[in-house]
Amino acid sequence: MNEKKAYAAYYDNDIRMKSSSGAIFSLLANEVLEKKGIVYGVAMNASCTEAEYIGITEKQDLEKLLGSKYLQAKIKNIFKNVRENLVLNRLVLFTGTGCQINGLKKFLQKDYKNLICVDIICHGVPSPALWKEYVGYMENKMQGKMEKVNFRCKDQGWENFGMKEYGSSKEVYISKSKDPYMQMFLSDFCLRPSCYECKAKTLRLSDLTIGDFWGIDTIAPEMNDSKGTSLVIVRTNQGEKIFNRLISKSSVKVMEVEYDDATKENPAEFRSVYRPKERETFFIDMKKMDFEELRKSYLSLPIKQRIKNAIKKILKPVLKRARRGGIKSNLDYGMLMQFNVGEKNE
Ligand SMILES: Cc1cc2nc3c(=O)[nH]c(=O)nc-3n(C[C@H](O)[C@H](O)[C@H](O)COP(=O)(O)OP(=O)(O)OC[C@H]3O[C@@H](n4cnc5c(N)ncnc54)[C@H](O)[C@@H]3O)c2cc1C
Repeated sequence: MNEKKAYAAYYDNDIRMKSSSGAIFSLLANEVLEKKGIVYGVAMNASCTEAEYIGITEKQDLEKLLGSKYLQAKIKNIFKNVRENLVLNRLVLFTGTGCQINGLKKFLQKDYKNLICVDIICHGVPSPALWKEYVGYMENKMQGKMEKVNFRCKDQGWENFGMKEYGSSKEVYISKSKDPYMQMFLSDFCLRPSCYECKAKTLRLSDLTIGDFWGIDTIAPEMNDSKGTSLVIVRTNQGEKIFNRLISKSSVKVMEVEYDDATKENPAEFRSVYRPKERETFFIDMKKMDFEELRKSYLSLPIKQRIKNAIKKILKPVLKRARRGGIKSNLDYGMLMQFNVGEKNE
């Protein structure tokens, strides 16, 4: 394919409320499962302390893969398992971050016609060690074990999402602007070192890329019903064939858009996040402090400083682009969610 094609799309069914964006992942996964294929993706483990890759063959297991898990997932021996199924000529859908797809392709060392690769637009993955600390902190607060977590609860809408955590004795909902883990993630303090210089931004080996269609209201407001809209980027002929087949279904709403317009407010598609100066000390402190101390140290900056930081962050890419020529929108995934600089963290 010479040029990438971009679409706003959503799968109009109940599953969308359990998905982070427009449920395009589940649409693809259903198709593969109906053809007796195998779908690989990321699930939380039973104790909610880790995210890990699993392969599923039954629709009843699809729920485990739904929704973003905002921490680095364990790959374990999944690449070997993928190859075994490919060699058996089974249809395989592998979904993950761009770097994980590139890793799989490098491992396989050859192309397989029965492999579909779909990456998610990725702003960066947080440290699994930080997540474990946070689970302990929340279990203390909830006075019970964490049994389930939804990082992208849409009870208050797709754009205004929050974390929903189900403990053994109660459940809690914390808006994205108040949850300390989400704030550490969106402030980019806790991402893996390679995320700040992500090679997958310029080398994408997937057939399709899916993400949130941030900025949909300026491009196609009729495609936003607050339940979630996906941005779909078609990168290969194989991806185009699959996507065209899926969108012929009446339950799929779709609109072709210009790639540049579609990615204006989602620079994670083409650019790594900036490494904040606090990144170094954050990880040193994470080993010394408990989660509450870490929260107080990094999220309780005086309001003046937080506003200053937010403005600096907004201006940095604008100035950079202006220097290169051609100013685009300055909103990015993190920024979009960080505008509540005045809100206190709980
Ligand atoms: C760490 C992270 C950062 C992200 N950053 C952005 C961003 O900057 N901009 C943007 O538009 N979208 C981002 N997304 C993607 C977005 O949140 C949705 O995952 C994507 O749009 C798919 O949504 P869906 O509704 O089609 O399906 P969903 O049901 O929400 O998708 C689930 C899919 O995500 C995969 N997945 C979940 N957690 C992980 C993980 N930890 N590692 C690898 N794969 C995972 C599952 O395997 C499955 O394929 C990010 C996701 C993650 C996990």
